[in-house]
Amino acid sequence: QTIPQALAQTVARLGYRQAAIFCEAGRRYTWSEFAREVDAVAAGLLALGLEKGDRIGIWSPNRPEWLVTQFATARVGLVLVTINPAYRLSELEYVLNKVGCKALVTAARFKSSDYLEMIRSLAPELETAEPGRLQARRVPSLRAVIRMGAEKSPGMLSFDDLAHLAGPAQMRRVDAVSATLDPDEAINIQFTSGTTGAPKGATLTHANILNNADMVTRTIRLTEADRLCIPVPLYHCFGMVMGTLGCVTKGAAMVFPGEGFDATSALKAVAGERCTGFYGVPTMFVAMLDHPDFRRSDVTSLRTGIMAGAPCPIEVMKRVVSDLHMPEVTIAYGMTETSPVSFQSHVDDPLEKRVSTVGRIHPHVEVKVIDETGQTVPVGVSGELCTRGYSVMKGYWDDADKTAEAIDADGWMHTGDLATIDGDGYCNIVGRVKDMVIRGGENVYPREVEEFLYRHPKVAQVQVFGVPDERYGEELAAWIVLHPHEEATEEEIRAFCRGQIAHYKVPRHVRFKDALPMTVTGKPQKFIMRDEMVAELG
Ligand code: ATP
Ligand code: MG
Repeated sequence: QTIPQALAQTVARLGYRQAAIFCEAGRRYTWSEFAREVDAVAAGLLALGLEKGDRIGIWSPNRPEWLVTQFATARVGLVLVTINPAYRLSELEYVLNKVGCKALVTAARFKSSDYLEMIRSLAPELETAEPGRLQARRVPSLRAVIRMGAEKSPGMLSFDDLAHLAGPAQMRRVDAVSATLDPDEAINIQFTSGTTGAPKGATLTHANILNNADMVTRTIRLTEADRLCIPVPLYHCFGMVMGTLGCVTKGAAMVFPGEGFDATSALKAVAGERCTGFYGVPTMFVAMLDHPDFRRSDVTSLRTGIMAGAPCPIEVMKRVVSDLHMPEVTIAYGMTETSPVSFQSHVDDPLEKRVSTVGRIHPHVEVKVIDETGQTVPVGVSGELCTRGYSVMKGYWDDADKTAEAIDADGWMHTGDLATIDGDGYCNIVGRVKDMVIRGGENVYPREVEEFLYRHPKVAQVQVFGVPDERYGEELAAWIVLHPHEEATEEEIRAFCRGQIAHYKVPRHVRFKDALPMTVTGKPQKFIMRDEMVAELG
């Protein structure tokens, strides 16, 4: 199947039912309304001169136009390139040129960023260009810029204009082009989070992401009776595959609380729209549970959901099950390059396994854990996780070297994550290969120390990482965010560890922070913490 075929099936079955709700923007779509707008925009894109296989970028927080663009581009085989909303001018320029985007769909602004201003300085030629005929020196491939909403800007097309651009001939061409789509053709270039360095563009097909979305939402038993709250960014696979595509395959309604995540609007959306499911990274769940409005919020409609994207602390999972009223919540593990999910727990798993592991391997995916020499390790021993199957990306866009580093000749994707798998197949993500700390010859997995520190009653968030040390090669450092109104000392944290974990795992440096450096996808960026600590320690 292709993505448009999957959408068409759901529309035929559930046309009159709610498809999507954008709380902040006050927009609600039924499946039929949504499909009509998707087709109108798809026809507009053809009318602009775009053709199947052309790349088109989207740079925006979560907005109705984002969702429409995702399905409109898929409808006519345009390759949607998802650009991080936190990007600034130079990163935007890099991505547009790297993949040769012919068009860019953009929000006017997000938080303090004026996107239009940045685009105008990147392509001053817009001022006098006719929409669709742009020729810009710094981004030679770019022909058109489409700004979301109804407002006009020189040289740009408004999203509303785009939806009304096509005549009857182009409307008919939408079906004709759609009929030529092949499930194994590239449909997205999704960028990784940039947790460990520069983001990489993974090229993914209809079959990659549609099948994965289906499996993910099957595992949480999502149905057309569900309303899934999606506060995670649409530019990332958690939102645009597990979220939007996952809902399309089941006919579940999507509820978008706001443009970016904040606990207040997430809680309001859950209560106001009676959401039954919720997707989040660990820090989002923590922010909601710790929020002053939490006790007054009605979250009893919740049943299921997914925590994923970063290590999911057991203590947080337990609170999500009981306090957030999500008895069926599961953990998923994956990466952009594998469409994304490869491990996921299941409601039928014992609760203890469900909160403490990432579950078992997904159907139709193979897995192995290897040591440095490439040999498969015995059950229970940690090593690098490798996966193989339908979900592995085509490759990194225009980067054969990086692709060959990640996917070996036998088709195994080397994840860069350390894991153990027990005799029953349950997997534990121990950490990233890059994050492992070697202190005085002892291997320390920061994840284990983090799990321990989460038991401290004052600790809300903690990240542990290695910093260079003259005596031991590396030393452990911990950055901690305390619960509201708490105070603690470095010594208090170390004293909590002593006698409870091996002496070499006790963090030598402890710092208290108001917040931790995070990617837009909610992943702690240890390389930034490490750099800052190194600078501080001189
Ligand atoms: P980059 O590759 O650009 O450095 P990234 O790896 O964070 O960034 P993503 O593809 O968004 O980019 O994230 C995949 C990674 O997220 C995995 O490789 C893994 O390290 C981490 N991850 C995802 N889910 C989990 C989970 N449930 N538990 C632990 N780690 C997870
Ligand atoms: Mg990665």
